[in-house]
Amino acid sequence: MTDTSPGPSRTTLDFLGREHGHLINGRWRPSVSGETFDVQDPATGGCIARVAAGGAAEIDAAVRAARAALEGPWSRFTAAQRSAVLWKVADLVQRDHQLLCELEILDSGLPASLAGYICATVVPEFFRYYAGWPTKIEGATVPASPQGKLPGESLSFTLREPIGVVGAITPWNSPLPMAMLKIAPVLATGCTLVLKPAELAPLTAMRLAEICAEAGVPDGVINLVNGTGESAGAALAAHPGVDKIAFTGSTEVGRLIVRAAASNLKKVTLELGGKSPMMVLADADLEQVIPGAARACFFLQGQNCMAGTRLFVHERIHDKVVEGIASIARAMKIGPGMDPSSDFGPLISARQRERVAGYVEAGRREGAELVCGGRSPARPGYFFEPTVLIRTRNDMTPVSQEIFGPVLCVQSFGDGDLDSVARDANSTVYGLSGSVWTRDLGCAMQMVRRIDAGQVSVNIHAAIDPAMPFGGNKQSGWGREFGKEGLEPYLKTKGVSMTW
Ligand code: NAP
Ligand code: MG
Repeated sequence: MTDTSPGPSRTTLDFLGREHGHLINGRWRPSVSGETFDVQDPATGGCIARVAAGGAAEIDAAVRAARAALEGPWSRFTAAQRSAVLWKVADLVQRDHQLLCELEILDSGLPASLAGYICATVVPEFFRYYAGWPTKIEGATVPASPQGKLPGESLSFTLREPIGVVGAITPWNSPLPMAMLKIAPVLATGCTLVLKPAELAPLTAMRLAEICAEAGVPDGVINLVNGTGESAGAALAAHPGVDKIAFTGSTEVGRLIVRAAASNLKKVTLELGGKSPMMVLADADLEQVIPGAARACFFLQGQNCMAGTRLFVHERIHDKVVEGIASIARAMKIGPGMDPSSDFGPLISARQRERVAGYVEAGRREGAELVCGGRSPARPGYFFEPTVLIRTRNDMTPVSQEIFGPVLCVQSFGDGDLDSVARDANSTVYGLSGSVWTRDLGCAMQMVRRIDAGQVSVNIHAAIDPAMPFGGNKQSGWGREFGKEGLEPYLKTKGVSMTW
């Protein structure tokens, strides 16, 4: 198959061709070791950039810079000045949206329309939302009587202070929003940051760090170290100079982060894996359900922590829903994101494609029936077709494990089975997202209460918004991002009692 997609712009090519190092105290530097790694375009498998591979030495230098900045000029920024910086970051992201969009497509395989929406709208809106917070982070006066002091003889209050130096480790799926989710609360609360982006897609995080500097963030506030998880990531999680780790990634690595953080009892927030259920009741509006469920599962090629990957559908509408989703899947145009007519991009790597194919095979061996997809198209890059498996059971491998690929596992249920559907929906170690599809809002509310997940939506899946808290229950994580709650893990409370 020949690729007719338009090439990247001159600005993007210039960015790709640069020497990419680590941002430490406002300067891009190579690795002490001189080592580098190649960044690939998953739509071709070709190398698009070369990036310095950092480790313990770079992490240590970055943490020191972050500590100095925390105690330096950044601590003298007023809340209004931090607001202005966040607003400016939003404006600059909007100015650079074309570059960010092309980098995001080339580095992580997003389709153009989605990458465009993320870079021109989602990311600026998120920074603007957080730009509103610095001037609204308040403590409280407390009606305390320290050592029996009477009112008028003392004053007790709380101060909300930045938690300190934050170490953030992010995954490769949707890498720009992942960096945004760490940088915005850091700036809003007055913390400083060492960010370790995923080795598989580090480019837009680097550009965003530069944008922050241009927006007036002082040197050392946002540092970025590239490298592998085993080297740079592990050094960051274990570093005694880091006060808090904000991690997004797999549940397996999340456990390693917790162990490493125990050394100095860093605070930890974790945004981990998911295996989110969608429950479609007999009265649901199929015009809503069919495109909604297809999008929920196949969005970002299924490489999406909140993807709706387990579909429980009433037996009366099962065939219609499955056929509707399968026809959307079959009609999706698979191709590189740089081609604006593609609506389904590649998986991130050859390894990820092997994993996904392995899960589909395991499901078929265990008795699932393949309705569509299941193959890699014969073309360069790491493409895999959107796939639907029916007659699946909870104990099947593709139903119980997070695949992180475009594989929908369908089960059906009959009248009066709602209790068992809720039990099945919860029969996973994950608890990130879930959705209920029905016209009966009373029934929807019952299901909302029963689903053990940090986010449950009705007649829509994974309704993300800057103002809505998002995060996982059970082994999907600790803490929340987004919204006011997303600031809490970046703040600490000091209780102050004054007498005279
Ligand atoms: P991953 O393998 O856990 O990697 C995530 C990050 O951790 C990467 O930067 C990785 O570095 C680093 N890392 C790996 N081993 C490490 C170690 N021993 N110590 C410190 N850091 C280490 O996850 P992924 O494959 O990139 O991303 C997919 C996973 O992320 C899925 O499970 C998905 O559900 C989850 N996710 C969750 C959310 C959420 O909000 N809940 C959002 C997006 C993704 P390198 O890869 O560069 O080696
Ligand atoms: Mg890449």
